Amino acid sequence: MMIYILGAGESGLGSALLSKKLGYKFFISDQFKINKKYKNELIANSFDFKENGHNKELLLSSNLVVKSPGIKDSLLLNEVKEKGIEIISEIEYAYRYCKGKIIAVTGTNGKTTTSKLIYEILKSSNIEVSLCGNIGKSFSRVLSIRNYKYWVIEVSSFQLDDIKDFKPFISIILNVSNDHLDRYQFDIKNYLKSKLKITKNQSNSDYFIFWNEDKLIKREINFIKAKIISYGEKSINDIAFISNDEIKININKQKFTMTIHELALQGRHNIYNSMAAGITSKILNINNQIIRDCLSSFDKIEHRLEVVLNVYGVTYINDSKATNVNSAWYAINSMNKPIIWICGGVDKGNDYSDLVPLVKEKVKSIICLGKNNTKIINEFENVVKKIDEAKSMKDAVLLAYQLSSKGDIVLLSPACSSLDLFSNYEHRGREFKSQIRLL
Ligand code: ADP
Repeated sequence: MMIYILGAGESGLGSALLSKKLGYKFFISDQFKINKKYKNELIANSFDFKENGHNKELLLSSNLVVKSPGIKDSLLLNEVKEKGIEIISEIEYAYRYCKGKIIAVTGTNGKTTTSKLIYEILKSSNIEVSLCGNIGKSFSRVLSIRNYKYWVIEVSSFQLDDIKDFKPFISIILNVSNDHLDRYQFDIKNYLKSKLKITKNQSNSDYFIFWNEDKLIKREINFIKAKIISYGEKSINDIAFISNDEIKININKQKFTMTIHELALQGRHNIYNSMAAGITSKILNINNQIIRDCLSSFDKIEHRLEVVLNVYGVTYINDSKATNVNSAWYAINSMNKPIIWICGGVDKGNDYSDLVPLVKEKVKSIICLGKNNTKIINEFENVVKKIDEAKSMKDAVLLAYQLSSKGDIVLLSPACSSLDLFSNYEHRGREFKSQIRLL
């Protein structure tokens, strides 16, 4: 058995470590220069690898190709397929050797938050559980060290694209809105199809959880074999809903209630994320007090509606992780004071029109922080009183400082990715925080 691992990032390294553990021969390569951290790891393990290109001969003579989620379809991959060589994604590879039960979380927004909530609750109940996937350590890397009883796996649509048998005991789709469409022929149907793959191998002894206000997911549920549990504002079959500011969950004759004011993570979207975590916990028979304690004491996650500082009565909030329109919508919606909104960056084919009514109602002024801000300016110049452009985070924060008055909120929730001016969303969020501290 010769395995060819395409991509030498976290998924590729995880696959290599798992292959080593399983005693398989393998080769790993990356089309570009390999990140120093992973290159050091390859060298320390004496793995055979190549950077700045693949070894075509080895690739076409391998028995199995494990593909990292960042790798797009290409002529080379077509050649591999034509030769009849199986191509699978990294999560599929790990799945084949995993003995535990999987809780897989996907959706356009809220994956990390919800996965962490579920993990914290399971861990507090002394369940032997790992948190991995898109969130940090790859599934394969963790599995190469230990075969846990339970796995909370954050999965992206790219990771689901090349699964075959991957079968979660509980699968969750939080929501589906425009994002990454450049990888899906600019058609949201293709993106939705890829998210729904999370359910494709589930049977009626498994569970599928979804937010019942999502029109796109709702249309597809007739094809799902797992037991379906949905949640949202309104009661559908009395299972999971909000009534008089209380979350109510009722599953397999087990009831759970909690007032939304006690939740550690505020904002409507976080009530939904907490409900998805609550439902998962009740399926697993977890004690109500443990669920309540975790949902009320959960530590905020960096770069997600993170309150940074209050400077002269103005609150600065870092929501740098909001890299699409829908997540910025929820951020703006959850604010209850006038907003100076810092947005912009790399636009992934955004349609800002959904934001117009909300911006009109809540945003005082906009500061565009991107190399090209034309689309944002065109959409909002007649919606807000003032719209400015900033060339750097320093300028953006100084401008926000000048424009704001006591009682305002300065919100960084860009609706775009960060790659024009920053190395990633974390870098953008950290810059924001350090510029605020200098005020
Ligand atoms: P992901 O891992 O899917 O990117 P995160 O939990 O990191 O999601 O949250 C990313 C951003 O999306 C946050 O900044 C937050 O404002 C927003 N968000 C979180 N949960 C939801 C949700 N259920 N619906 C819409 N937006 C959300």
